[in-house]
Amino acid sequence: MPKANETVLEIDLQALEHNYNFLKSKIKANTKFLAVVKAYAYGSDAVIIARKLAELGVDYFAVAYTKEGALLREAGIQTPILVLHPQPVNFKQIIEKCLEPSIYTARVLRKFLEVTSEQKQKNYPIHLKFNTGLNRLGFLENDVDYIAKELSGRDELKIVSVFSHLAASEDPAERSFSEKQIRSFKKIINTVKAKLPGTPFRHMLNTSGILNYPEAQFEMVRCGIGLYGYANDPRIDALLMPVATLKSVISQIHRVEPNESVGYNRAYTSEGPRMTATLPVGHADGIGRHYGKETGWVLVHGKKAPIIGNVCMDMMMIDITGIACNEGDEVVIFGKHLSAEKQAHRAGTISYELITGISQRVKRHIL
Ligand SMILES: *Cc1c(COP(=O)(O)O)cnc(C)c1O
Repeated sequence: MPKANETVLEIDLQALEHNYNFLKSKIKANTKFLAVVKAYAYGSDAVIIARKLAELGVDYFAVAYTKEGALLREAGIQTPILVLHPQPVNFKQIIEKCLEPSIYTARVLRKFLEVTSEQKQKNYPIHLKFNTGLNRLGFLENDVDYIAKELSGRDELKIVSVFSHLAASEDPAERSFSEKQIRSFKKIINTVKAKLPGTPFRHMLNTSGILNYPEAQFEMVRCGIGLYGYANDPRIDALLMPVATLKSVISQIHRVEPNESVGYNRAYTSEGPRMTATLPVGHADGIGRHYGKETGWVLVHGKKAPIIGNVCMDMMMIDITGIACNEGDEVVIFGKHLSAEKQAHRAGTISYELITGISQRVKRHIL
């Protein structure tokens, strides 16, 4: 790997391929694989990641918002793209870019019917989202009659799939709740089959669902975080490879005398003489203030250096006392050799938040 000479997010496409093959090995050969590439492919680079996954043969992509799907189409991605959380204001763009909306509430269904009808669309693919306990988005089983009434005698829309989402698929203590969600989903499917036209396929599992509820794969799984190298389970994390590694460099080294302070609000005070280094990466790049005050640490030549004081907007300071290093040397903030999950955990959050938060200011470097 090349040494970083500024703050960069390295994206390792071989790691992506490894994770994809690992996750594929956990599902039945005929189960479709949807790759979730929302939020710039979990903070990495949506187009680069989607191109690689399309080449590897994924069946579907999902994004959260229309704009994210449009970006992929503009980059030439032709795989079907499910938009998980569209708003009616974007329905024209959805159709223009051949994106497939999740329809999760009556308002959204009516509006999409209106737009597809104006445009004289026939059998436009939609995906019906059902709420089985997450209480975030989705119809309830009782809404099936309403949906049937809205769709009856019309041919603008085609229900391609029916899906739901688990609330705690990573948590063994919530197994009975997850199983209850799976049972409700099956019940909903029976009602859908009885009352709605077509033969939609079914999907419910995210990454942890794939690992913990193999019996609920149905015809497709929706995998996000696992592709990027994390699985909410240390035993599985050990088998995956982080795709993104955030690196930076040492801009300046300081010798700090006892009782001197470092950084804004003088949040760090040295007890003895210390060596500190300033890095060109801060909360505007996605390393929030909660990583400061020795909560998070970085690796300098493989050695742990705590982040001291308050993280600034564009910089942060680390304690390098006892580590042989120079200005210009590379520092690893998370990724290979320093798990984003563990870094995030120290700051009371999860890998998802840390990796998706790396701002567009940080250069992406594709390996
Ligand atoms: C983000 C998301 C996923 C992917 O979840 P991971 O835990 O990252 O695998 C799957 N389904 C829905 C509805 C999502 O919003």
